Amino acid sequence: MRFTVLGSGSTGNAVLITTEKTRVLVDAGLSAREILRRLAVVGVDFNDLDAVLLTHEHGDHAGGLRVLLGTVKCPVYISKATADAYLGTRKGSMNGGESESVKRSDALKNRTVEIESSHEFRIGDIDFEPFSVPHDAVDNFGFVAAFAGVKIATLMDFGHITTLIKEKLNGCDAIVVESNHSRDMLRACSVYTWDLKQRIASRTGHLSNEDLADWLTNDFDGSARHIVLAHLSQRANEPHLARITAECALQMRPPLFRTETKITLSNYSEPTEWISFQ
Ligand SMILES: [Zn+2]
Ligand SMILES: [Zn+2]
Repeated sequence: MRFTVLGSGSTGNAVLITTEKTRVLVDAGLSAREILRRLAVVGVDFNDLDAVLLTHEHGDHAGGLRVLLGTVKCPVYISKATADAYLGTRKGSMNGGESESVKRSDALKNRTVEIESSHEFRIGDIDFEPFSVPHDAVDNFGFVAAFAGVKIATLMDFGHITTLIKEKLNGCDAIVVESNHSRDMLRACSVYTWDLKQRIASRTGHLSNEDLADWLTNDFDGSARHIVLAHLSQRANEPHLARITAECALQMRPPLFRTETKITLSNYSEPTEWISFQ
């Protein structure tokens, strides 16, 4: 099994997880055109995709989906609540008005496989174990993808690390995890309104470098050889700062629990290298 983060940040997210037989695109938050370009960059034919898996309805995860479905022919794995929110049939949801809602509904018609955010499901030969994460979307989840004894966890868009999350991350071989903002940079950011800062920093917002560091030092079991930092804010974070904060946190672990874990940064504009497991 191997994976690449095709792109990640506030402007759009997509992750690709594959085995020899199965190719799953996780989220479609980049434009369809960018997703297709990046699939080509990493050497995957879009005709070979087996599924698009949607974690939640926010635009930076679902914004490219409708147009993408005009090109790719695979089904969309999505929970009922997320589909309703994506289609704008839930009260208070905003997705660009009625016409967009109709277009989305047409695009998804007969293309979905309903999943639940707390029940295991399988796509091809990959087993997915989803788990809820605290975020201000209707039904956001992270998941562990397992194949042939290898486990890859992916979780973005969550405001704090819960006991459930800690449990699910134990024993994983690779983890793609949000390192959204530096608390100081978020506070000092002159572009964001007070409301937006509150939303990002809340317990159902986005994970800070500092919260991730706390988990790395105190709760990480050391099993993952690769940790990919994802969803870095372009305004309230710096890639170097996110990396140094995570690497220092690993160094702070008690000597007996030091690990060889490699930290990789994902980027909003280009895919990461493939990270592969035999
Ligand atoms: Zn997001
Ligand atoms: Zn979100």
